[in-house]
Amino acid sequence: MLVVKKFGGTSVADKERIFNVARRCIEEYQKGNDVVVVLSAMGKYTDELITMAKDINELPPKREMDMLFTIGEQMSVALMAMAMNKLGVPAISLNAFQVAMHSTSVYGNARLKRIDTERIRHELEQRKIVIVTGFQGINKYDDYTTLGRGGSDTTAVALAAALHADACEIYTDVDGVYTADPRKVKTARKLDAVTYDEMLELATLGAGVLHNRSVELAKKYGVQLVVRSSLNTSEGTIVKEGAKMEKMLVSGVAGDIDTARVAVVGLKDEPGVAFKLFNALAKHNINVDMILQSIGRKGTKDISFTTSDENADEAAKIINENFNNFESVEVDKKVAKVSIVGAGMQTNAGVAAKMFEALYDANINIRMISTSEIRVTVLIDEANTERAMNAIHDKFDLGNK
Ligand code: ADP
Ligand code: ASP
Ligand code: MG
Repeated sequence: MLVVKKFGGTSVADKERIFNVARRCIEEYQKGNDVVVVLSAMGKYTDELITMAKDINELPPKREMDMLFTIGEQMSVALMAMAMNKLGVPAISLNAFQVAMHSTSVYGNARLKRIDTERIRHELEQRKIVIVTGFQGINKYDDYTTLGRGGSDTTAVALAAALHADACEIYTDVDGVYTADPRKVKTARKLDAVTYDEMLELATLGAGVLHNRSVELAKKYGVQLVVRSSLNTSEGTIVKEGAKMEKMLVSGVAGDIDTARVAVVGLKDEPGVAFKLFNALAKHNINVDMILQSIGRKGTKDISFTTSDENADEAAKIINENFNNFESVEVDKKVAKVSIVGAGMQTNAGVAAKMFEALYDANINIRMISTSEIRVTVLIDEANTERAMNAIHDKFDLGNK
């Protein structure tokens, strides 16, 4: 059996945790299995690298950021190999170049395209535990890239797919996927199983427990995931196709404070305005999420959209530089998205109304709304995020089975 095990930052934050992970991997190895380990940077090291970079240059070139980022993961894998060696088990660390993890060229937000498996297979044949850097890739210019924050999950799933692994286990600092972030909603309950589609929505809408692209890949290649704790042996959550969500209408609540609203006010009301606006943003790789267009009045209209905090100022700049058919652009970063997700919603009316009622009861104003078949998202003031998550979680009684 070949098993891919991924451990996040908190799971390898210090010497004791590194040895804890080493022992867990060795246990698997001693069952006679092939073990491939994917690691993140230790603790909050990636954040520290960002702070260091911004201290030197507040807008560091993205290529150089990726050069810097890759140190973090490289440090973890080397130390892990040393720990396993100390425990008497042969292990080898490999970075994205040594494996050859080919990615697209976009620095800071690359996608894995192809992974060479020969080197890993060769090392496994020598009965070594193979420890691979998460989060990084290499592009056609022979440069390092990174996969976006939280991207080590995606490395693990991509490796599991490429190696046709029998299991892909994501070890983290909580016991699995919960009905809401257990750090924000005290009554949150661990789910035994969740579907790819639900997990993809949850991850995209702010449930940082899994990188959303890892779920996308898992679904595409049929890699079943287990999310579980690195600190205990409880069973965790299975992420798979069509898992019955315990017949629940709503499976989870997610909040995302990394959201900004950009409003373009007084736009000339004529054909092609939306196309030109969003086309300009797309050309600069700015992902737009919710979009709201007001009813035209006196030949003008307003278009508001949401994007990440990081992209908001750039979006406003692009609009100001490329267009002159509007009155003003306003950026508001003090907003957040709160969403409910559930496969059961498709066939049930009234779910959205119930969510809005929870917000009304909590006296929280809704600024934008968007829906899909399996989710409802509202935009609210950032200060109300946790209160809104708790109110909605309680309203749907998600803490109880
Ligand atoms: P790692 O470093 O292991 O990748 P992350 O910090 O990226 O860990 O992800 C784990 C964190 O995700 C948890 O500590 C938890 O606060 C947060 N989280 C957000 N939403 C959820 C959820 N629905 N279920 C579980 N954890 C969640
Ligand atoms: N170290 C990276 C980050 O902090 C990748 C990861 O943890 O998955 O975003
Ligand atoms: Mg993570």
